[in-house]
Amino acid sequence: MIGLPPPRDDAARDALVDALRDIVGAANVFTDPARLAPFSVDWTGRYSGVTPAVVRPGSVNEAAGVIATCLSHGAPWVPQGGNTGLVGGGVPVDGEVVVSTSRLTGISTVDRDSLQVMVGAGTTLAELQRHVAGEGLRLGIDFGARDRATIGAMVATNAGGNAVLRFGMMREQVTGLEAVLPDGQVVRRLSGLAKDNTGYDLTRLFCGSEGTLGLITAVRVRLVPEATHRTTAALGVASIADALGVLAELRSIEGLEACELMRGVDIATLCAARGWASAPPWNAPWALLVEACGSASFEHLGAAVERSSSFLVGEAAVADRPGVREHWWAIRDAQGDIVRAFGSVLKLDVSVPHPRLEGFVGDVTDVVASVAPGGRLVIFGHLGDANIHVNVGAATSPFEALEDAVLRLVLAAGGSVSAEHGIGRAKRSWLVADRGPAAVAAMRAVKTAWDPAGLANPHVLFDR
Ligand code: FAD
Repeated sequence: MIGLPPPRDDAARDALVDALRDIVGAANVFTDPARLAPFSVDWTGRYSGVTPAVVRPGSVNEAAGVIATCLSHGAPWVPQGGNTGLVGGGVPVDGEVVVSTSRLTGISTVDRDSLQVMVGAGTTLAELQRHVAGEGLRLGIDFGARDRATIGAMVATNAGGNAVLRFGMMREQVTGLEAVLPDGQVVRRLSGLAKDNTGYDLTRLFCGSEGTLGLITAVRVRLVPEATHRTTAALGVASIADALGVLAELRSIEGLEACELMRGVDIATLCAARGWASAPPWNAPWALLVEACGSASFEHLGAAVERSSSFLVGEAAVADRPGVREHWWAIRDAQGDIVRAFGSVLKLDVSVPHPRLEGFVGDVTDVVASVAPGGRLVIFGHLGDANIHVNVGAATSPFEALEDAVLRLVLAAGGSVSAEHGIGRAKRSWLVADRGPAAVAAMRAVKTAWDPAGLANPHVLFDR
């Protein structure tokens, strides 16, 4: 078991706050309840807690001082970037200091020899994309929360998104990293060498560590050339089996970057609420948004859609005009907002092997109807990666029963209880069932060796 320090009294809290102010300056330690509030509740509104202070280090040295101070005061801490995480991992639970990366920003000039760039952990994904776009480059990861999600957290959660099909998860983009360990020491490997076989790969160990192994302060990432041309298709299909038939045809296209799945009924709800036009084939039971990049993408994608015609419902729409493509992507990016209208929402991000996907979605639909009658189910996801987002709003029964039923189905289908959002606070009790006791014992051993006091984000990943 990883132990937690005892609750802090006022004098201990004041001494801690004074020590933190000495390191980062009074302006960068917030203690006023109004300023703490936005750092204390997550994006879903489901997870919240209390904190004595938010501290904002402005350099790796300040960050190391903050972590060492927390250790010497026995104070637990939680890293926070843009606070868009969906599993409650970046907000305090019970008195952790919030270490905000909002001042750990900055982007180096692009190293054209390696096509890599160094980025401060608190830099947002959108800021990085803007910075490198001028050089005809981009990071091979993109998703809807780009304006707030930060690069350090994207490593800590091993983020995925819309282009994993082509470029892989965040783990595949990271070529080096700087971090403060829970004892205040700094580890740094930022050379970005492709060949570097010198012992354990600590950089990758941080991918998916969710703040439990230390505070990431800077990251070196590989970049890919910006697409010269993009072509997007809006396709309708009657079933997930047919959607997989389309995907099989698409797989061989050069530059295939996305194959996203939505339901026709959800698109209709969204477009009606926002006064948007939908794409004609998306009134089918299931909708696909497919994108390929490259100068011949229009011809290649068009030909693959033609070959898939036996799986399609209605006329396929293929476009390379930015206005049309951006509208279709806006519909895809807003899928997560549909259930938000129902107040508190259960959001589950899972993956299930492709051959089991259709049965899984059918079972989930039945389970929501029986466990949460009246609940509004919205299902969408990254079909190419077998990654499905199960969102339920307006559920009258407790989320726990629904979550339990859905995640049991995931495990029975040989899937993963977390595809890309992480374990956080939300799925701690599922880690052993998913990974097995030996794997979790090995993870705990690493955690305990690096953080014997158990102060680094103590309420995530492991069940207590
Ligand atoms: P936070 O929420 O601040 O933190 C997330 C976790 O990382 C916490 O455990 C935190 O303690 C830890 N952490 C933060 N910074 C550091 C650091 N510097 N060092 C160590 N640990 C740290 N995710 C996807 O993968 N794919 C998607 O397609 C996707 N789409 C989304 C769409 C929307 C509309 C929203 C709201 C979220 C989406 N997410 C998606 C989830 C989220 O954006 C990602 O998990 C992202 O990586 C979180 O970034 P953040 O800066 O907001 O992290």
